[in-house]
Amino acid sequence: MIRINELELEVGHSEDDLINKISKILAIQRTGILHYNIIKKSIDARDKSRVKFSYKIDVKADNEDYVLKRLYNSNKKYKKKLKDSTGLKGFDLKSNVYKTEQMSYISDILSKEKIIKNISDIQNTFHSAGRLKYRPVIAGFGPAGIFCALILSRAGFSPLIIERGDEVDKRAAVVDDFWNGETVDTDSNVSFGEGGAGTFSDGKLNTMVKDYMGRSGAVLKTLVDFGADTDILYINNPHIGTDKLRGIIKNIRNEIIRLGGEFRFLTRLEKINFFENDLENNSKDVFKNLPYKKRLKSVTVSYEIPQEKKGQDKKRRYEEIDTDCLVAAIGHSARDTFKMLYENHVYIEQKPFAVGIRMAHKQDFISDSQYGPKYARLLPPASYKLTAKTSGNRGVYSFCMCPGGYIVNASTEKGMLAINGMSYHARDGEYANSAIIVTVNPQDFLSEHPLAGIEFQRKLEKKAYEAGEGMIPVQLLGDFLNKKSYMRGGIADFDCFRGRACFASVNEILPDFIYNAICEAVPIFERKIKGFGAKDVITAGIESRTSSPVRILRDKLCISSVKGLFPCGEGAGYAGGITSAAMDGIKVAESIIKDFYSIDNI
Ligand code: FAD
Repeated sequence: MIRINELELEVGHSEDDLINKISKILAIQRTGILHYNIIKKSIDARDKSRVKFSYKIDVKADNEDYVLKRLYNSNKKYKKKLKDSTGLKGFDLKSNVYKTEQMSYISDILSKEKIIKNISDIQNTFHSAGRLKYRPVIAGFGPAGIFCALILSRAGFSPLIIERGDEVDKRAAVVDDFWNGETVDTDSNVSFGEGGAGTFSDGKLNTMVKDYMGRSGAVLKTLVDFGADTDILYINNPHIGTDKLRGIIKNIRNEIIRLGGEFRFLTRLEKINFFENDLENNSKDVFKNLPYKKRLKSVTVSYEIPQEKKGQDKKRRYEEIDTDCLVAAIGHSARDTFKMLYENHVYIEQKPFAVGIRMAHKQDFISDSQYGPKYARLLPPASYKLTAKTSGNRGVYSFCMCPGGYIVNASTEKGMLAINGMSYHARDGEYANSAIIVTVNPQDFLSEHPLAGIEFQRKLEKKAYEAGEGMIPVQLLGDFLNKKSYMRGGIADFDCFRGRACFASVNEILPDFIYNAICEAVPIFERKIKGFGAKDVITAGIESRTSSPVRILRDKLCISSVKGLFPCGEGAGYAGGITSAAMDGIKVAESIIKDFYSIDNI
């Protein structure tokens, strides 16, 4: 393959233009291009009078070595450096055209001979085929649980997936009811249920996580295999949208079932149970110099018993399921489950996160500011990224920006309110919204208790609930900055909420250090996007679930202080966002597979 970097084309170009440009750059006929693959496509809007697309492309061409040699020989700069054909691979990486290898994805481990030949054996004689006695149980079917379950299913492990929320369509109906004024359902809501927290999201897929194993490519490719548009494979900052995501999640669920996996929705992980004292002599220094504390024997789950008569108190049935492998992919909002794990020998520590508000601007204003009016309507709705450092050394930054999206009520507990952002695939809403958040450190929790970050969040969410009397509290930026609790009554003019909203004093919800940091950052952001800090910009609170407030410690094998318990994904503190949570799901699945086969390296 030949890699071409920084191939530039005008906005509005056709596929034909792209092929012509490739043939021009490589100085070959169009017929000499056997195949090409877009690796990255981004918008270069540095010069607003000439916004353009910039591509990174891999090209399969006839006689590639000859094409490259001829190209380099015809260019003085390259000619000097060209010695022989072996120099073509990775040749002068600073140049824009060079030979490259095709990336292979980590999911290829599943086609390793060793594993493939054993898949049918495992399915038939699973209990005695390897180190595991029972099939793995996966708690949580968000991105981490989804990808862990899919990889384990493909490897023949037939996992049992328990998910406290409902399957995605029924969940969507419950969420709609909630947004129309019903009390929050603490098991099926914007954060809980099939698909996890990202289901009602913008479905942004970018990740900052370094990926030496090709896992992020595997995640994107899998999403495409199950229904996402192929352009997510190369567009800079790809997104799916809540509407498309739901179909993809169902497709993956069906594939897991086809491969032998089993689902139990509306079923909550309640407790983990252990073998008594069997690790007493375990002196293995596997875990931050500490041995495993306990070994997993089973899990207790609970589910609701259907009511005989309407209006009867809901009752739950409890059931113990034997397992020696539990993946806890429970997300960052499973506060009751964190508490249960903490009380059951699982090492948990505090972790920094960020808290703040959401701000909403007209999308046209944001697109004009990012692309210039000449190009704004020709390109997809623009996003932005803003960062600032306050005089008190607090980081303030935009987060989870949703072009053409909505601010959603994402609460999970009664009497508390948390917001987040969501967009549909088309991103065609009138407003762009983004969290503007401030870093919060364990010192701010004023307690050393491992779960203190959760209490910190809860206090703010309770204030937000009270400020809006259960609705999303909203304040115009001018009033927010001037601490003016000027109520304006109805809010119907702003089509940027999912969930009921009302004017309230958002400024009063925030602790002083967060409020002051945002006030200090707004003028800095205004310098970057003129009009960003206008007084009629919408603010809403509270954005408190930006990442997990805890980390569940795990060792190199991804095992916690309880042997057999694999903390996974965002809730465990090993991911932030859809793609990185999915990547962690793959990583944990690999660990389980390796452990099962006693393989050190596959
Ligand atoms: P989750 O997705 O949180 O999944 C955890 C699952 O575990 C849930 O389904 C839950 O019901 C289940 N569970 C919890 N406790 C139990 C239990 N005791 N028993 C059984 N099941 C249990 N990220 C992005 O990258 N891009 C975005 O655009 C984006 N937008 C977002 C918008 C919203 C509204 C929200 C809420 C989040 C958004 N995020 C976004 C964050 C993203 O959703 C998370 O980072 C990601 O979902 C984490 O994946 P996870 O699998 O680790 O956990």
